[in-house]
Amino acid sequence: MAYHVTLIPGDGSGPEVIAAAKKVVEATGVDIQWEMAEAGAAMIEKFGTPLPDETIESIRKTGVALKGPITTPVGTGFRSVNVALRKTFDLYANVRPAKTYPGVITKFENIDLVIVRENTEDLYAGIERMVDEDTAESIKLFTRKGCERIIRYAFDFAVREGRKKVTAVHKANIMKCTDGMFLDIAREIAKKYPQIQFNDSIVDAMCMRLVMHPEDYDVLVCPNLYGDIVSDLCAGLVGGLGLTPSANIGVNGAIFEPIHGSAPDIAGQHKINPTAAILSASLMLAHLGEGSAAASIEKAIETVIAEGKILTVDMGGTASTEDFADAVIAAL
Ligand code: NAD
Repeated sequence: MAYHVTLIPGDGSGPEVIAAAKKVVEATGVDIQWEMAEAGAAMIEKFGTPLPDETIESIRKTGVALKGPITTPVGTGFRSVNVALRKTFDLYANVRPAKTYPGVITKFENIDLVIVRENTEDLYAGIERMVDEDTAESIKLFTRKGCERIIRYAFDFAVREGRKKVTAVHKANIMKCTDGMFLDIAREIAKKYPQIQFNDSIVDAMCMRLVMHPEDYDVLVCPNLYGDIVSDLCAGLVGGLGLTPSANIGVNGAIFEPIHGSAPDIAGQHKINPTAAILSASLMLAHLGEGSAAASIEKAIETVIAEGKILTVDMGGTASTEDFADAVIAAL
């Protein structure tokens, strides 16, 4: 039986990485019926919105989407499509693995950590206004339900994936209500998972430790904004944005996408690294229950990177996006 998956190419360099990821998924032999859907600034003229109803309906129907990055113009009335999708489908858990692949030049070896980022609350909810023309206000909203479900997700994830430790990331020393509640709930939930080690870390101190001793960390559970920032930091530790995938998991659906943006500076040049998008597709296959196809994609990427012959520019090579994807398919 075929799986139905919504495919959103995105804009900028998005269509290039999504075409590569689709080709690799198809090479695994898993039967997928893709439903093409659009989103982004280019849709405004046609549909009056960057996120057309057809796209929302498609995801509602399939429950799963593979998505390319979408440009969010800064300081305009344009609401982020990504934030809107997270809200519409209540995609509360943003899972971002960061792993070193032998062959990629990085300062550290053997990093294998996962950021579990809350995806719907915090300053990211965008509840802000101009109080007067010289004063801007933004509300940092945390709910007990929001904290509980992301922290529980992180512990369940740790158990399911055979991981050993969960670290709760916060700034509870200063933000005693919001981050304080997050930390209290994490401490309570941790007691129910005696098989998983638990500790907590203040976000600024943790950033310093992360760049000195990343091997100390395993699963990091973070409120939305810290998770956003820390996961880009971790992407840098393992070789850059081109290598880090993500899953957005919710009650009403799941959307898989690379963590990088639309990379407008290299769009159309066929030099964007599709690894993050291909690994996102691999997370999607695992979510669909196709664990062995997912693992074979990851292994193929490992092989191509370790061989070091066909690498994109950001990894120190000269290969095009398509050449890299073809090499992964050959290695499958
Ligand atoms: P970006 O990730 O697009 O690019 C930052 C830098 O990294 C650029 O120099 C880019 O060329 C490079 N880069 C990114 N991905 C790469 C890859 N796979 N291979 C090689 N190089 C890569 O970040 P940005 O420039 O801050 O954002 C561009 C746009 O993307 C903005 O409008 C932003 O809002 C949007 N964005 C979208 C998403 C999403 O849709 N999920 C995520 C982040 C940013």
